[in-house]
Amino acid sequence: MVPGDFYGAFMLAIRSKSQKWYFVASVTMISLAVSWLVTSLTAPEGLTRASLVPSTLAPLLIAPLASYWAACRLLEIHILNEKLLHLAAHDQMTSLYSRDHFFRLIAGLGSEFQGSFLLADIDRFKSINDTHGHQAGDEVIRFVASVLKDGVQPGGIAARFGGEEFVACLPDVPLTAAAETAEAIRRTIGARPLSVGAEGLLCTVSIGLGYHDGSRPVEAVLRDADEALYAAKNGGRNQVQPAFTG
Ligand code: GH3
Ligand code: MG
Ligand code: MG
Repeated sequence: MVPGDFYGAFMLAIRSKSQKWYFVASVTMISLAVSWLVTSLTAPEGLTRASLVPSTLAPLLIAPLASYWAACRLLEIHILNEKLLHLAAHDQMTSLYSRDHFFRLIAGLGSEFQGSFLLADIDRFKSINDTHGHQAGDEVIRFVASVLKDGVQPGGIAARFGGEEFVACLPDVPLTAAAETAEAIRRTIGARPLSVGAEGLLCTVSIGLGYHDGSRPVEAVLRDADEALYAAKNGGRNQVQPAFTG
């Protein structure tokens, strides 16, 4: 077991009250044993009746308090650390992955993985903000994010790229299948009116695709997808455009 695994398993264990007390009891027993051993090796007469009392009482008083306090603090730090990692990895508004974490996950796939990329941008979003207000705009962003997240399952990785722009990676999915997924996402978004006040608000997205065959950097594939997205916007929006690879 590597140290990281041990730390994780330990933190998982001491979340439960009984395991925490098991830890405290173990530390206390070990402290007692060490105290007796040190006393027997260092006291002039070894472990006698007279030396047994302090060598027993000292660890018995200190070890449970110190180990319980340490277990609670360690757990607190661990939970805060988990929250911090989650905050850094996710976009707070949509709960999708953050842009940085998306690239970390993609890097984790290795440079030679094959799969499709999808860049989606909400159409005429500025006018949604202007007409219905910023809060309605935020609702639209959350809605699009949730359709995208569901739409790329199973196995897809979706992230908020920034503003009203999203990115997704579909590992091991060829471009034709990715185009069908993107088309389904586009149709779902365009067909479901959001209730904003008394009105129903319909929004649409444009989607550009790119394919990573392992021979070029991901950035180049995303540039393809961005060009395809630009073509989708120029072609009238609310459409999916495949990558123009070359
Ligand atoms: P296009 O169809 O060409 O994509 O037009 P657009 O209006 O969607 O594009 P544009 O880039 O002009 O506008 C994007 C707007 O998105 C501008 C910005 O104020 C708004 N925006 C960015 N982030 C947020 C956000 O988190 N919440 C809200 N409500 N608006 C945001
Ligand atoms: Mg837009
Ligand atoms: Mg945009």
